[in-house]
Amino acid sequence: MGESTMEYRTRTSGIARVVLCAMLGTALLSTGATAATPSMNAAAQDPFGGQGAADYAAFHVSESGLLKPQDLGNPAAGASTTSTLVTQANLNLRTGNSTRHKVILTMPKGASVKVLSKAANGWYKLSYKGRTGWASGQYLKAAKTTAKPRTVSKPPATLVTQANLNMRTGSSTKHKIVLTIAKGANVKVLSKAANGWYKVNYKGRTGWASGQYLKATAPKATPKPIAPQTTQGKGPNLTKSVVLTYDDCPLTLSAFDAVVKYAAKSNIGLVLAPTGNCLASFKSRYGVDLADRARAHGQWVINHSVSHPDLRRLSCANGAKQLQGTGVRTNWGRPPYGAINDNVRCAYQRADMRIWTWTVDTMDWQVKNKKTIVARASQAKAGDTVLMHMQWQGFDVDAIRQIGNNLGKRGLTVCRAYHGPKGGVQKTPVKLPASLPC
Ligand SMILES: [Zn+2]
Repeated sequence: MGESTMEYRTRTSGIARVVLCAMLGTALLSTGATAATPSMNAAAQDPFGGQGAADYAAFHVSESGLLKPQDLGNPAAGASTTSTLVTQANLNLRTGNSTRHKVILTMPKGASVKVLSKAANGWYKLSYKGRTGWASGQYLKAAKTTAKPRTVSKPPATLVTQANLNMRTGSSTKHKIVLTIAKGANVKVLSKAANGWYKVNYKGRTGWASGQYLKATAPKATPKPIAPQTTQGKGPNLTKSVVLTYDDCPLTLSAFDAVVKYAAKSNIGLVLAPTGNCLASFKSRYGVDLADRARAHGQWVINHSVSHPDLRRLSCANGAKQLQGTGVRTNWGRPPYGAINDNVRCAYQRADMRIWTWTVDTMDWQVKNKKTIVARASQAKAGDTVLMHMQWQGFDVDAIRQIGNNLGKRGLTVCRAYHGPKGGVQKTPVKLPASLPC
């Protein structure tokens, strides 16, 4: 971008500088062009000269809203100035207040700069990204926008709403709603305010609408989020593998370690749902974070509340506290007893957590018998989630081996341990992926 377009040294009075700045700003807005166009060059190099343009100043300043006299301050050097200005074009920052001084750097168009002082010739001393220097005031505009509608330029004839959009009696949200224009509607543009609002006509009604939701082209169809093909019972497992899950709390640290180590070694990915109290207990007794230790062995860990209450009996807020208190902080959780009602759904939503129950219940807590638990788990079908507990007989190396073998004989696989992108069993992420890599 040419030097002369960026910087203009004036011999004229302060008011004349207001003229030029305002006019250039207006031209920039109305053409949409950058300061590099030849016409702008001409304007910059041939200022209107002297006092004669003072009337222009009054008009353009008040109409454009680009520069107000107070923004420019007193023409005397060191006068008070607006604290922040925005570059209206790529603009050189120089070591002194004229184009004869060296360029320190070029600030991009739209950059916010901190004003330190102002010279009588209209140049500003600025701070930008930690560098201090001088730049021409010609392409610097006050950062703050004005709320009052001021027509600045010739807007396009029609625009399309990008969302359902309120038409109001004035150019801000403080004004009354005339009607709501449907997304994708064509509106006729009558004028544009400095704050980006448009005066529009739609179905015979005239009012103002925010330009933020008006574009020249039709809105893109919002793609519907792809809902994972899953159910509450299967959680994020979209595969045909069977997921073995264990709730509550192991009896001993050695039992826990034996299972997670075996699972990692055998490339099995279990899902563990310890309570917060369980984690706190092992942490205080052994200084071990069970969740972290399980993850380190490529196992998945989900939330199971702090103290295992029936969440249905708690308010939404208190239920959420159970999900967000001591315990596993992740995106999936299993409500104690699988007990769910609207309170529980509300609590999970508030905690930004999804509910994962099960599809096969071994009733391990009731039978307390390894053979029966293994037999029930071995009946799982493709994609099932099997419920067991860490304190009962299914949480055992031998039981898991048997279940795996039995399922294998029926052509089924158990969810595998987490491998990550590098291969080999890796530490699982705290948040479960949208689809469990079983
Ligand atoms: Zn439980």
